[in-house]
Amino acid sequence: MENAVHASTARSSGQIVLAGAGYAGLHVALRLSAKLSNHPAVELTLVDRHDYHQVITELPRVAGGTRAADAVRIPLKDMLAERVRFVQTEINGFDLADRRLLTEAGPIGYARLVVALGSRPNDFAIPGLAQRTLSLYSASDAERAWEAASQAVSAAAAADEPERQRRLATVVVGGGGATGVELAGELAEMLPKVASRHGLAPDRPAVLLVEAGPTILAGSSPQLIGKATRILSDLGVQVRTNAAIAAATKEGFRLKDGQLVEGGVFVWAGGVKAPGLVADSALPTGHNGRVKVDRYLRVLDHPEIYVAGDLASVTDPRTGHVLPPLAQVALEEGETVARNLDAELEDRPLEAFTFHDKGFVVSVGPRRGVADIAGFTSGGRMAHLLKDAIEWEYRQSVTHLRGWDPVAR
Ligand SMILES: Cc1cc2nc3c(=O)[nH]c(=O)nc-3n(C[C@H](O)[C@H](O)[C@H](O)COP(=O)(O)OP(=O)(O)OC[C@H]3O[C@@H](n4cnc5c(N)ncnc54)[C@H](O)[C@@H]3O)c2cc1C
Repeated sequence: MENAVHASTARSSGQIVLAGAGYAGLHVALRLSAKLSNHPAVELTLVDRHDYHQVITELPRVAGGTRAADAVRIPLKDMLAERVRFVQTEINGFDLADRRLLTEAGPIGYARLVVALGSRPNDFAIPGLAQRTLSLYSASDAERAWEAASQAVSAAAAADEPERQRRLATVVVGGGGATGVELAGELAEMLPKVASRHGLAPDRPAVLLVEAGPTILAGSSPQLIGKATRILSDLGVQVRTNAAIAAATKEGFRLKDGQLVEGGVFVWAGGVKAPGLVADSALPTGHNGRVKVDRYLRVLDHPEIYVAGDLASVTDPRTGHVLPPLAQVALEEGETVARNLDAELEDRPLEAFTFHDKGFVVSVGPRRGVADIAGFTSGGRMAHLLKDAIEWEYRQSVTHLRGWDPVAR
């Protein structure tokens, strides 16, 4: 592990640099390092602000108090092959003309660059939202959300009037997508237990899920939405749809229709956008600041730069829609980028990216879930076991992939 960049590195021209060790960037590092044995002169450098990989798909469990924050931070040294040089530093820009990634540790020259810096919460310019809500995009965020919810219940236990107790012990989650549903489910199951420990009636805490659109889990099948809604209602989560937030104020969420949604803790899970440093760069961007790429995942007009993961704006030719910011998309894009970098080294034609949708699985609380796989919808314990299996398989793949090259598809 290194945290300083040598001058020789900055001048290097045979270097492949991967910016971001999340789902996409780590996957490129793992896959590509296995393919580089024929190219001893090629340097592979991975850059991230953290020396660990965050298993973001498990954050709702941390925010619901059922998993420790450290359990979702996997040290990169346990995953990377020796061939990969890791630089821990903050990336703060791109020098596209001179082909250098700009970092706090100095510029890093590249022959090929892979940008995989993920997303940031999008507040859609709603006044007060960024200042007055917690977000859920890192292990530390998730830890803070759980601490805030626990403290709110403890404060409620110390309050006198039942009405005040209820308001303090209410967690309001903004955004009824998969993240909001998973978080609301976890909290609804866990907060009554916290209340009991503090001597507060277990029915005093409440979880409210506020969604601007007409339904939660927008874009999913009506069957899946129905099953998720039933489980949430079973858990006591109050779902409010068609409830667009106009502002986050000291009193709570002010909805567009003028109603006030009060609570003790407010979490925003309503969407993501590209990190600011990408918006400030000369990279061509589209919806939500995501970078426009060609069918090989190379930046338009910059074939020496690939983009993968949430940051890439990739249109699915079957639907005409931009692919959603999902880990399974990031992993598949990482796979294609690793193959294409290898193809460039081996002088083979590049592979166009095609997304193979494996289905959609969402946990709703720590025991149940919903899944849409191959046109079949399920809800309940089985769907949750499926989610557990996906998470287990992912952890296995990143800790055992080191230097492993799968049989070519
Ligand atoms: C709470 C939550 C739950 C989710 N659950 C699911 C799920 O169940 N299934 C699913 O498919 N998807 C899920 N997603 C979406 C999924 O997590 C993302 O699509 C995925 O993480 C995208 O991968 P990525 O590689 O693009 O970015 P990330 O995994 O976010 O990685 C980006 C990396 O870049 C680094 N980085 C960023 N900026 C800088 C900088 N300036 N300097 C240095 N390093 C930097 C970060 O530290 C990070 O390591 C969930 C998202 C959230 C927020």
